[in-house]
Amino acid sequence: MHKKRIVALRRLKDSHLQRLHEAFQVDYFEEPELQPEAVATALRQAHGLIGGKLQVSSALLDEAPQLEVIATISVGYDNLPVAELSRRGILLTNTPDVLTETTADTGFMLIMASARRLVELANMVREGRWTQHVGEPHFGSNVHGKTLGLVGLGRIGRAIARRALGFDMRVLYSNASPKPELEGEWGLERRSFEQLLAESDFVCLTVPLTEQTEHLLGYEQCRAMRRSAFLINIARGRVVDEAGLIRALEERLIAGAGLDVFEREPLQESPLLRMENVVTLPHIGSATHETREAMANRAVENICQALRGERPRDLVNPEARPNGFPAAQQEQSLDAQ
Ligand code: NAP
Repeated sequence: MHKKRIVALRRLKDSHLQRLHEAFQVDYFEEPELQPEAVATALRQAHGLIGGKLQVSSALLDEAPQLEVIATISVGYDNLPVAELSRRGILLTNTPDVLTETTADTGFMLIMASARRLVELANMVREGRWTQHVGEPHFGSNVHGKTLGLVGLGRIGRAIARRALGFDMRVLYSNASPKPELEGEWGLERRSFEQLLAESDFVCLTVPLTEQTEHLLGYEQCRAMRRSAFLINIARGRVVDEAGLIRALEERLIAGAGLDVFEREPLQESPLLRMENVVTLPHIGSATHETREAMANRAVENICQALRGERPRDLVNPEARPNGFPAAQQEQSLDAQ
């Protein structure tokens, strides 16, 4: 049978590549930046594109007339032009759920690491600067019993809230829509964004990057936070106005920050790297063996379903197919018989 063609980008495990090879003719590029022309040539004939950190421009889509689906190996898709994909009838899938708990672990790890000055004090030991008993200048802040403010209460926000409740924290949230069930069952308290900034000991960002959330938090918002508070960002770098945050940290308007994401990644040269009260991670929210495996599995399933003509499980833009999915319709009519 004639196999459809796909382009696979960035490192995929052999087991995933094998599954893709069984179903498709695959052009695989582990480091696409090094071969942009070869990638562009392969895309001209491709029906599908799968990979992480995909950059897709209008010009590239013009050169990929057969493209039916893009399966990103991530939950966020702020790097992809969703409206344009939908206009062109190209399906977009992501990998929600399977990375929720791991990313929540990362968020909570940053809360703990910031409050207890983990990196700064661990470096002190490693570098032979632990010469006497640790005294007050090196004390941290409690996490248990404090107030956590979650900006965004979706899958990851809720998973962090669960962890926080186990630490006896009071949990506030500001979110696009109210979540009365979580207020009732878990005792979470809804606040406006401004109120949340004023009341929280830890402000944790878990919103997607959109036009509305870009630069949601900068200098002025830090000024509205407590001087003893920490900012945690595991969402996307551009949700924070980094220059404003740096200024606020320099002026000691807040106590510190735990950051997994940055406006420009990889973070190379930045005052943030020289601040002892800032924990910087290399965008590893979901980076565990188990979770990256699960994410790739999900993306492989999605691209296979889409190119079989079925509605993929994690479809982001159903509007790309206003007439639905023939395979699903067929199944439905068989069910009805
Ligand atoms: P999700 O389930 O879609 O949750 C997002 C939440 O944000 C929703 O509850 C949504 O409100 C809320 N929201 C959206 N726009 C808002 C706004 N303008 N103001 C206030 N709240 C708003 O997504 P998720 O799975 O939790 O993931 C969240 C984000 O985390 C992803 O988009 C991604 O960028 C980031 N992420 C980062 C890493 C990492 O490696 N650091 C890993 C995974 C994910 P409604 O409930 O009303 O829709």
